[in-house]
Amino acid sequence: MGIDPRHNILFEPLKIGPVTLPNRFYQVPHCTGMGHALPHTLAAMRGMKAEGGWGAVCTEYCSLHPTSDDQPFPFASMWDDGDMANLAAMADAVHAHGALAGIELWHGGSYVANLASRQPSIGVRSMPSREDPVQSRRMDKEDLRAFRQWHLAAARRAKAAGFDIIYVYPSHGYLVSEFLSRSLNGRTDEYGGSLVNRVRLFRELLEETRAAVGDRCAVAARFAANGHGEEHLSAEEARDVLGLVGHLPDLWDLVIDDYYEEMGSSRFYSEGHLEGRIGYARALTGKPVVSVGRFTSPDTMVRQIKSGVLDLIGAARPSIADPFLPAKIREGRYEDIRECIGCNICYAYNYRGSAIRCTQNPTMGEEWRRGWHPERVPGGASGTVLVVGAGPAGLEAAHILGKRGYTVTLADAAKEAGGRVSRESRLPGLREWSRVRDYRLQQIAKLSNVSLYLDNRLSAAEVREFGADDVLLATGARWRRDGLGRSCPVQIEFPNDALVFTPDDLMDGRVPAGEVLLYDDDNYYLGPVLALLLARNAVRVCYVTSGSRAGEWSKYTGEQDRTQRQMLEAGIEIRCSETLGAFDGRAAALHCVYTGNAVVRAASALVLVTSREPDDALYYELVGSGGAESGTRILRIGDCLQPSIIAAAVYSGHKAARELGSSAPAVALRDRVQIAK
Ligand code: ADP
Ligand code: SF4
Repeated sequence: MGIDPRHNILFEPLKIGPVTLPNRFYQVPHCTGMGHALPHTLAAMRGMKAEGGWGAVCTEYCSLHPTSDDQPFPFASMWDDGDMANLAAMADAVHAHGALAGIELWHGGSYVANLASRQPSIGVRSMPSREDPVQSRRMDKEDLRAFRQWHLAAARRAKAAGFDIIYVYPSHGYLVSEFLSRSLNGRTDEYGGSLVNRVRLFRELLEETRAAVGDRCAVAARFAANGHGEEHLSAEEARDVLGLVGHLPDLWDLVIDDYYEEMGSSRFYSEGHLEGRIGYARALTGKPVVSVGRFTSPDTMVRQIKSGVLDLIGAARPSIADPFLPAKIREGRYEDIRECIGCNICYAYNYRGSAIRCTQNPTMGEEWRRGWHPERVPGGASGTVLVVGAGPAGLEAAHILGKRGYTVTLADAAKEAGGRVSRESRLPGLREWSRVRDYRLQQIAKLSNVSLYLDNRLSAAEVREFGADDVLLATGARWRRDGLGRSCPVQIEFPNDALVFTPDDLMDGRVPAGEVLLYDDDNYYLGPVLALLLARNAVRVCYVTSGSRAGEWSKYTGEQDRTQRQMLEAGIEIRCSETLGAFDGRAAALHCVYTGNAVVRAASALVLVTSREPDDALYYELVGSGGAESGTRILRIGDCLQPSIIAAAVYSGHKAARELGSSAPAVALRDRVQIAK
């Protein structure tokens, strides 16, 4: 199958300054949790995107000087020759596949606390850092001169490292955007006051970077096209900034003022949602424009270009979920595209200080450490495998085992495949999560050696009788009905007639009525989403959480504030920092996590979102009844082994399938600084 000619435009080269992009697929700067800490891991991951056809592949935010240190987050850095060598490895990996390498030079200004370098942070005025009890030092003229020199030094190093596109970064609240801010910039010199003055530093950086490296490198600017909020830089002023300096960079990488909307999750934002705010910039600047929008549909991409909104299709998440997205479009393999589901798990793990992972792409971050390729698995396998359970773990395992050459039977008790993904994707806002199932079903459908049997609950006797060489149990987990969880170490006993529900009940269509208390001790998305489901069913809901905010962990996915806003707007009462003590069918006793004081809250039904019990009875029946002795190897994968997020279930299924039958124990390389002997 070849490319649909309507998509040819996506493969037209584009000149930006002195360099030419081979096509319109542009991986914009995005966090990885690798940065300066994991250089091999980073280079291999970025190189994989170039191999998959991305025309440009950029770094994450790359600190240009030790006064901008975002510890504990693994930012990239271009402070010295050591950094230069490490990032040159990334540029080389990208160049090896004919793509251009971009670097986003970054200074955090007042935002950072410099926990590692312990240098005072600098800002347009003395302002508190994002989180720590520390303020920046107000920059004087000498500091400004020094800062411009640091920027230049980093740009020169970037050029020497082989980068082709070098960023100036006046947005997201970092140093250069502080200068643009009407409210923060109280300077009375030529860098403060009028917009022309506030833009001065940005203009100088653009001009100086071009003068220093512009003979070989393109200069890009990452800018919020709708300003930074009324008090900092209004939308009108943002237009004026583009009017003033629009002609200076070779490429505009446009973002918006709200970072968590820009990388908005699919629970709250749809594909291409930035268009209304950035669409004007291309005509105004006359320069090529790139921006993001969780683009996975080639038709949408073509529309963005043909309608004059964008020249380049920017992507972070779609390139994480499918590094081979461009190649698949070019080859007309549309059904092979692994579409991002917009869950923001990739962002969450950077935020947790570890290398990114992806729900859809289990090989993300494992390119160097385990040598995993997103499109290739070791082939030539033979033998039979029975996979029990077609949730994300079982589907991924069956898919990879099939590609390896095994004869695979995949059975599920349910009438539809997908396990928790199918059930959860019917909840408010989670529709796109069904892509986890759909991609794998598509792939399996193409494999004649994989058979799927639905509506087939297997007993231990049936598994044994089947006689496969290997059995992978992907039977999942069930939500507990006894309150046991993170903040409750003992099971709570409820009277027999008390109406106590679990998330599984609600997903199976058993929705309580009356006055419902939902207790969330899981503290991620499911509690808030179920509360919303209840509210939409005209149920009066009181949401109680042991966390200090609704769906607290979703701060890592950038969804917490939207979650709480959405719940409040739906009329849901929210009570935080309380644990559940008892429920007698008419009222619940709630305890303050700080004082232990109890309050009684009337409720006719209780929904418990606390923790899950692995569904491993089949495993113990088999192992206990001699399944292993009979010559069949039995392995648990996914939630049945370790209840976790969907990304972990997919990863577990992938790893087991990739490594099945390999005699050598899988050893992962370690990316670290090693003292030379
Ligand atoms: P995971 O996230 O680990 O993939 P899920 O809970 O999403 O787990 O999926 C588990 C699947 O296993 C469900 O679809 C369930 O119907 C299926 N299942 C559980 N026990 C059996 C069994 N004995 N026979 C067949 N299917 C089973
Ligand atoms: Fe998309 Fe989720 Fe993967 Fe991130 S983790 S790239 S949001 S599927």
